[in-house]
Amino acid sequence: MGNCPLCNAIDNEQDEILYQDNNIVILPTKSMKGHNKRIMAILVDHVKKVDGLCELVYENTFIEFCQEYFNEEPTFALVDSTYASIKDHWHRIACDWKSVEDIQQLLYTPHRSIQTNKKWSPK
Ligand SMILES: [Zn+2]
Repeated sequence: MGNCPLCNAIDNEQDEILYQDNNIVILPTKSMKGHNKRIMAILVDHVKKVDGLCELVYENTFIEFCQEYFNEEPTFALVDSTYASIKDHWHRIACDWKSVEDIQQLLYTPHRSIQTNKKWSPK
């Protein structure tokens, strides 16, 4: 598995780790694509697919982390892995909406807009 960028990230970026439990690690992405904040949840093990129930648990852990992490804004984007460049190691990416260069690509990628813990309501 020496060639997997995500396995390498977990090994080499210990100082950058934002969150870790037995199943997932949360790290800033290498490429920020113009965002202020762009992070990923990576499965600790090099596994391509996890069963639906586990996936829900991992995603929920990530979402709860993000709801605090992206707290300056009312929402953040949880990006689907449809167009992910790394296909054989389960991960999810989340980012803010503050990127001129990436917004177009983001809008054409399946994603969920999720509310953060910031108190906000439309006028
Ligand atoms: Zn891997």
